[in-house]
Amino acid sequence: MAGHQVTSSWSGKHITVAGLGVSGISAARALAGLGARVTVVDGGDNEVLRDRAASLAAGDITVRLGDATTLPEGTDLVVTSPGWKPDSPLFAAAAQAGVDVVGDVEIAWQLRGEPQETAVPWLAVTGTNGKTTTVQMLASILEAAGLRTAAVGNIGTPIIDVVLSQEPYDVLAVELSSYQLHWAPSLRPHSAAVLNLAPDHLDWHGSMAAYAADKGRIYEGNKVACVYNTADPATERLVQQADVEEGCRAIGFTLGPPGLSELGVVDGILVDRAFVADRRTSAQELAEVADIAPSSGQPAAPHNIANALAAAALARAFGVEPAAVRAGLRAFRPDAHRIAHVADVDGVAYVDDSKATNTHAAEASLAAYGSIVWIAGGLAKGATFDELVASSAKRLRGAVLIGADRGLIGEALTRHAPDVPVTDLDRTDTGAMAAAVREAARLARPGDTVLLAPACASMDMFANYNKRGDAFAEAVLALAAGREADE
Ligand code: ADP
Repeated sequence: MAGHQVTSSWSGKHITVAGLGVSGISAARALAGLGARVTVVDGGDNEVLRDRAASLAAGDITVRLGDATTLPEGTDLVVTSPGWKPDSPLFAAAAQAGVDVVGDVEIAWQLRGEPQETAVPWLAVTGTNGKTTTVQMLASILEAAGLRTAAVGNIGTPIIDVVLSQEPYDVLAVELSSYQLHWAPSLRPHSAAVLNLAPDHLDWHGSMAAYAADKGRIYEGNKVACVYNTADPATERLVQQADVEEGCRAIGFTLGPPGLSELGVVDGILVDRAFVADRRTSAQELAEVADIAPSSGQPAAPHNIANALAAAALARAFGVEPAAVRAGLRAFRPDAHRIAHVADVDGVAYVDDSKATNTHAAEASLAAYGSIVWIAGGLAKGATFDELVASSAKRLRGAVLIGADRGLIGEALTRHAPDVPVTDLDRTDTGAMAAAVREAARLARPGDTVLLAPACASMDMFANYNKRGDAFAEAVLALAAGREADE
């Protein structure tokens, strides 16, 4: 890989890294390795941070704890971590001093090397929900095509480390959050997809318009394809607003039959009417819906068919053959806590979608099943639940509510689903999940699905959504074994 020709441009530069977390540490080490003088600043000051600081000091990196607002003297560039808000005082200080602020993705992009034409191309994915799944599907397809690739970005190994590694990649499948896009002004992917756009993280971006604009940056400078969701017109508008390279095409994906320059579904078959020469008159079969993650043992949820189409579109934009799309989708294994089938107990299926941490994700989840006992609740992050409950009410056998903001969901159920039995567990302790599962089992009838799709963040009750999903699975397995789970 060509990344090292730029080394000289970093040596002697004074770089301030904002945040002593995973991405900050990776950026600091990488830039120090390229000869930059690096200072990491973090507002916190505790034992964990001091340990990290000590290990960085060994690599000649200065760490300043307990002050996140003043810009270190002589800073040439600020490299921020994703969590830092754009209105952070440190960035105001940088603006005042005429110093640019960028993120880890921007650094990785610049480090991929010159000339751009021979650097490893990126296929990029963003959206409110489905990013990780789509990027993993894409990497699986690219691998099936015999390409050397990795799924990176918001997941896995920090992107700077991947770009600087000696691995001879052919192409990268890159997941990008709206935060990362905000701070990556010179990013120009080969092709990119925006899966969907729903209000999320508005406290960070300030407004829906600002959030959408940051997502839309992913299309800037695309070379071959801008992939959008025909069911979500906001994504198509972002394509129209983007400044792309000549010849770059807008490619839609749809769960219905595809129009011209779209990928879609006909009679259970994923078909391509975009990357075929005679697309006006014919379509290319790529795979069957049943080819999507057969290892899960369940039919693909509609949102995962959409994710598969988006991944296929990006792979096809990169020239991948149809057979590899099928093989890649068959080999794909979903990450834990994303519509994971835990067990069947007394004719009832128990499904863990703990990763449904916002209402848009939970809505997609609930749309995938016919008759559901819904376990929901947690931290609402400012969301409202009327739309979600109204669109899902007819599929609800019952609901069990847990967590700090369960009252908001309860009120929406009263308004839009007054006949649905609701159990408010009135608990926010970790053990409440076992009680929730038992209560859901009581409400469920054979043929139903008990679905954990909380529509909320987990941190009021659990360390993270993984732990929440684990607690659910443990309680289900205890139920299956006929014993009580720990409360
Ligand atoms: P992200 O990386 O964007 O958080 P994931 O692939 O981890 O997305 O999926 C997170 C959750 O979002 C899933 O558990 C599911 O509930 C929901 N989801 C996945 N794909 C979609 C989609 N295309 N549209 C709506 N919701 C989705």
